[in-house]
Amino acid sequence: MVSHQLRARGIRDDRVLRAMLDIPREQFVPRDHRAAAYSDEPLGIGHGQTISQPYMTALMAQSLELEGTETVLEVGAGSGYHAAVLGALAAHVIAIELIPELAATARENLANAGRLANIVVITGDGSLGYPPEAPYDAISVAAGAADIPRALIEQLKDSGRLVIPVGPSADQELRLVRKQGGAIDWHVVTNCRFVPLRQAG
Ligand code: SAH
Repeated sequence: MVSHQLRARGIRDDRVLRAMLDIPREQFVPRDHRAAAYSDEPLGIGHGQTISQPYMTALMAQSLELEGTETVLEVGAGSGYHAAVLGALAAHVIAIELIPELAATARENLANAGRLANIVVITGDGSLGYPPEAPYDAISVAAGAADIPRALIEQLKDSGRLVIPVGPSADQELRLVRKQGGAIDWHVVTNCRFVPLRQAG
């Protein structure tokens, strides 16, 4: 997976490659998908949700340019896999998940993989961010939004980075947003296809 799907497609951040070598992805996919755990595609994790294609996880993590000191918010914890990757790259990760059963699964998967030490999984609506731990050095959103939620921009530190899929489900762009001097600018990293970012209630 690391050499064929990631390095060969231009993932260059050694810390990202190392993290994805080290983290046992098979522990984050449902039992009946274990044989496909390292395949080049998203996989179902129940409740109509998916664990992203490994390349997308790597690209998003690399875009955030983490060095190991950061506090990161992940919106859409799902299986917990992406949170585990971020946990290996940053100091502290808050992963928020709307579906309580998936939040419980993410906690269980992270515990089984021995990755819970610097990660907390919160059940809630991540489109509102998570104010108690804000501001964040970086925010990673694993579900597609119609637009960048204002709360996430507000909870980003100055000079912080936010990566988020924006647009209708079949035609999204992955945006990398930077906040500088209170203003934001962004560029498109790639086209993508994520499950929708939903609202609580
Ligand atoms: N990062 C996950 C990918 C999960 S798919 C992984 O590595 O497995 C996206 C997840 O976002 C789904 O679990 C979905 O339930 C969740 N989600 C959708 N809208 C959300 C919201 N408003 N707040 C928090 N989580 C949300």
